[in-house]
Amino acid sequence: MTDDIIAIDGPAGSGKSTVASALADRLGWNVLDTGAMYRAVTSEALFLGIDPDDADAVARVAHDADIRTRPRVSINGRDVHDEIRTDVVNVAVSVVAANPAVRAAMVQRQRAVAAEEPGGLVVEGRDITTVVFPRARVKIYLTASPYERARRRGDEGHESVARRDHADSSRETSPLRQADDAVALDTTGLSVDQVVEEIVRCLENTTSN
Ligand code: C5P
Repeated sequence: MTDDIIAIDGPAGSGKSTVASALADRLGWNVLDTGAMYRAVTSEALFLGIDPDDADAVARVAHDADIRTRPRVSINGRDVHDEIRTDVVNVAVSVVAANPAVRAAMVQRQRAVAAEEPGGLVVEGRDITTVVFPRARVKIYLTASPYERARRRGDEGHESVARRDHADSSRETSPLRQADDAVALDTTGLSVDQVVEEIVRCLENTTSN
């Protein structure tokens, strides 16, 4: 199990994915996009004709699935890298992600990835600092203004982003929230490099345990 984990949470369009991969490149670490895992389960359920509201059937998909996020996102050997960004998945993913059994399966896999990681790992999502790796070496909560977040999400549109944010923050199981000891970083008006530098500074202020 690597002790070198940088955990990043935040709402849609806060810059998590872009910052996480730039940060991982900068440090020579691997990155885990946990949103892609929830999206892949959603894609697979829809592909199999399962209603996202059928909690038991979706949980079985999540439990049994072979999910890869690198170099491209796939589930059960099917490449879903582009499909997971489509509107149908944007709509259904919040329902799938609110399913406690799906979350339990994903959390277990995310911890297993870290357990097998020989180097450092940057992990980004909604519950990484609060539930998955509450003892991560660095915990960051990224935000940006609503306008900036909608702009970054481009094609998805303001309403869809707002609806997902509301669902993600108000669900019962592991809602998106800022951990008490996470460093909050507002990325509005900052370049990716500036955010990366700020997180590297946080890392340098810690000691590997
Ligand atoms: O990060 P991304 O926008 O790709 O995440 C898609 C969806 O997956 C989120 O809206 C949320 O419902 C869910 N998610 C989650 N927990 C995570 C990562 C993503 O609930 N750790």
